[in-house]
Amino acid sequence: MELESLYQEVILDHYKRPKNKTLHPNPMVQVHHINTSCGDEITLNLSMKNGKITDLSWEGVGCSISQASASVMSELLHEKSRENALTLLGEFQEMLQSKGAIHGNEDRLQDGVAFAGVAKFPARVKCALLAWMAFKDAGSRIEDHNE
Ligand code: ZN
Repeated sequence: MELESLYQEVILDHYKRPKNKTLHPNPMVQVHHINTSCGDEITLNLSMKNGKITDLSWEGVGCSISQASASVMSELLHEKSRENALTLLGEFQEMLQSKGAIHGNEDRLQDGVAFAGVAKFPARVKCALLAWMAFKDAGSRIEDHNE
């Protein structure tokens, strides 16, 4: 199977069977982000303890890329430290903004590398980054008040 179509399978699979797509109650922070260029929406609940993600759940509507990316992210960042999560976010973002030059490290980004091909479609990059930007926002709000 070609890499491109394998990646499409991964994205479709997360879209059809999304992980952590049920908002867990009583989060420390809840954020709602919209990608106006596509109409994607995500609500993200985040809780942290001692600098570590203890709960990350989401709900959303939109295109397969935006929803699959949220699913992949929620799985990847589960129980990661804030520092590690932000590093992975940086790598994912760098890959998506590389216009296809960076393919991502599968050991680190896991299913996230399936989005490498999205980098060639600038209009879809925001779709893939929506959940991650919501996470970044939520994380910074937890930092603002106390953890
Ligand atoms: Zn979209």
